[in-house]
Amino acid sequence: MTNDTLSIETERFLSRRVLRVQESPTLQITTLAKKMSADGHDVVSLSAGEPDFPTPDFVCDAAIDAIKHGFTRYTAVAGIPDLRKAVCEKFKRDNGLHYSPDEILVAGGGKQAIQNAILALCDEGDEVIIPAPYWVSFPEMVKIADATPVIVQTTIEQKFKLTPEQLADAITPRTKMLIFNSPSNPTGAMYSEQEIRALMNVLSGKDIFVISDEMYDQLVYGEVAHFSPAQISDLRERVIVSNALSKTYSMTGWRVGYIAAAKWIIDAAAKLQSQMSSHTSSISQKAAAAALMGNQEIVFNMRDEFKRRRDFLHRELSKVQGITCTLPEGAFYLFPSVEGLLGKTFGGTTLQSSVDVADFLLKKHLVATVPGDAFGTPGYLRLSYAASMAELEKAALRIQKAFA
Ligand code: PLP
Repeated sequence: MTNDTLSIETERFLSRRVLRVQESPTLQITTLAKKMSADGHDVVSLSAGEPDFPTPDFVCDAAIDAIKHGFTRYTAVAGIPDLRKAVCEKFKRDNGLHYSPDEILVAGGGKQAIQNAILALCDEGDEVIIPAPYWVSFPEMVKIADATPVIVQTTIEQKFKLTPEQLADAITPRTKMLIFNSPSNPTGAMYSEQEIRALMNVLSGKDIFVISDEMYDQLVYGEVAHFSPAQISDLRERVIVSNALSKTYSMTGWRVGYIAAAKWIIDAAAKLQSQMSSHTSSISQKAAAAALMGNQEIVFNMRDEFKRRRDFLHRELSKVQGITCTLPEGAFYLFPSVEGLLGKTFGGTTLQSSVDVADFLLKKHLVATVPGDAFGTPGYLRLSYAASMAELEKAALRIQKAFA
């Protein structure tokens, strides 16, 4: 049900909370693209943030084993000990972070993990700073907690990175939290260690928490090394690191994510989760432990393939007059400006906004993308290159033809 389709009749029964929250625009577009495909249209979908690779065999085998051995019952709310330990190992191995298992909460995907942390810390009246372009769910999650998102716009000129000055200007006595996401969905931008230290310096001595969403920490393409704000020892107690298995191991449907934070935050978030969902699937937890502890070569192979796709799509899009695209350093999205196309007419359709561009590409040229409006930044499109090379080639040709 979207807010537009609510009738006055039903609206009066619903909570103010649900009326405040928007449905995920990326899921809406992906659903429309899937429907068009089901109706027989040959749609190339670059709208979903979902790797096209299968979940690795050894991970699936661990799940099958779990089922065969009857590991199908309730587990501890915060996750099975094996998995909490595996998450600690992952943090040590990949991020230079040291946590104990009681500083880890496993949840039903990165989304639930982040929502738990926001609900545990934020109340009505609290402000949460979110740099735009942002991942679509951040502001809505803050609204679910009755807190207020404070959006700070970054620009293509600053490579979509928040500056210390912008952060300082956004802070008020009500600021409770900053949501930080590097590499970023939707821009692929990454902050260097130096940039992160400069930003975090602004928070020094203040009771402001940081959610560091590190969903794409393994999908970086070499130019900038991943750095976590939790690596800054003075800040560790106020940083909540979130991550998930979804993108790194091609496990979107398994629903396993986690946060790492000071034990008192984990205990509070686990208390909420215990009343909302208990825990994620016992079978998925076994699979996740196997993924984190297994041979990581599979992750490196996927990363190499994403890099190849990034370079291809970036090169092809850059050939289109009216599209300006920075080369992203991580994640698997391109976020080009389409402002150079606005006010122009293509095949009888005049494009006035990035929503028009996305609509035109989907309906007339069968390529699904997401307008930047969904990420708080009109004038841009997000294209996911987590699609096969054949699909990307088809999409590139169609986009070039659409704007020839
Ligand atoms: N954080 C970011 C930046 C994401 O892009 C996503 C998924 O698109 C998530 C969190 C949530 O991931 P999950 O599918 O594990 O809930």
